[in-house]
Amino acid sequence: MRDLLVIGGGPAGLATAICAARAGLSVTVVERQRGDIDKACGEGLMPAGLRALERLGALEGLDRRRCAPFRGILYTQAGGPEARARFTRGDGLGVRRVALSEALLARAGTLPSIEIVRGAASGLEVLADHVRARVSEREVTASLLVGADGLQSQVRKLAGLEGRPHPRLRRHGLRRHFACAPWSEFVEVHWAAGVECYVTPVGERVVNVAFLWDAPLGHLSHDFASARAAQHPQHLSHDFESVKVSFNELIARFPSVQEHLQSAEVTSESRGAGPLLRPALARAKGRVALVGDAAGYVDAITGQGLSLAFMSAERLAEQLAPLSRPFDARVLSDALGRYHRSLRRAWLRYALPAQALLGIARRPRLRSAMLGLVARAPSLFSRLVEDFAG
Ligand SMILES: Cc1cc2nc3c(=O)[nH]c(=O)nc-3n(C[C@H](O)[C@H](O)[C@H](O)COP(=O)(O)OP(=O)(O)OC[C@H]3O[C@@H](n4cnc5c(N)ncnc54)[C@H](O)[C@@H]3O)c2cc1C
Repeated sequence: MRDLLVIGGGPAGLATAICAARAGLSVTVVERQRGDIDKACGEGLMPAGLRALERLGALEGLDRRRCAPFRGILYTQAGGPEARARFTRGDGLGVRRVALSEALLARAGTLPSIEIVRGAASGLEVLADHVRARVSEREVTASLLVGADGLQSQVRKLAGLEGRPHPRLRRHGLRRHFACAPWSEFVEVHWAAGVECYVTPVGERVVNVAFLWDAPLGHLSHDFASARAAQHPQHLSHDFESVKVSFNELIARFPSVQEHLQSAEVTSESRGAGPLLRPALARAKGRVALVGDAAGYVDAITGQGLSLAFMSAERLAEQLAPLSRPFDARVLSDALGRYHRSLRRAWLRYALPAQALLGIARRPRLRSAMLGLVARAPSLFSRLVEDFAG
């Protein structure tokens, strides 16, 4: 029997495996994507996430051709002021998700107690003294089930930890890459009515262009977002055509970004995700712990998902490290209680500013006033952004 069975080999799952293996635990990670592990993401790793990646020992394995540093964040809107927040405690890093996955997989490969199994996990069961799952023909048993299976986490549902989604507000995201030399050293956030556009440098000649919007967005939605999200929650690229139309409609709302991309080749298929708001009632219950997006997610507006994924992995391993194996139910429950509480505090520091920023994004007048205000106080703005993202 393994110590941990981790469902999901995204950043949270692989980081959990690395941290747990370093603490002497045996881990099986199950990942359903068979090739490159990719996902809809703005791909901006904030300074805190970058430091975590270094602690994980995965930074040196990153293919630097598929990364580009960024110095801060620039917020702007057509005809309005620009507000720049420059990081002072180190850069962030734009990084292609496939490159990030490769670096984490390579690091995991150096730890013999990690096993990675490709295939969808099914038949998840939580029993009194162990957990189990099936992957293809194989059964895996472990002392603890870790849900690192993203926004639509099956593990969160299984454990009865699914919070209630907002009845009306359904934000979605979509991204695509362009072969184009980055024109800014900042992650640019462009605001328009009901939608934001994020431009992140992710290589010497590659930019990631991502959108976040409330569905339905006027004429734009023609319900592709919710219909497709229900069918293919993480991979809207299954229907490239409808995504392509929508991407073009979205980009048309940002003429200043469109201008830069006019003759640039599209280098990736579009990927989307949503709805983004995914509350979790708790981060652990019985023999189940949740990490990353599965542990609760508000929105990508603050670009902190990856940093939070790494943080949850580190905190979970910290609590599990001192326990003797196989985990006794009572001792495990205390350790997971501590994990839940420590993550909850950190999560609120992300969730409250994210909610506030969402409120501002949705109100054009307030947004203009806020931009004007912070544009006049760049050092205060930099400190604010760095305090919660850096
Ligand atoms: C449009 C958009 C832009 C974003 N921009 C940023 C940004 O700029 N910076 C940032 O830090 N964050 C950003 N985020 C958030 C970030 O992408 C997530 O927070 C991050 O991916 C969370 O990692 P994770 O490992 O928890 O989940 P995921 O990356 O979703 O990984 C979950 C994994 O689980 C696997 N899986 C699911 N179910 C099963 C199963 N049954 N069996 C086996 N495997 C399974 C999936 O294949 C997947 O690989 C953005 C998100 C969106 C949608």
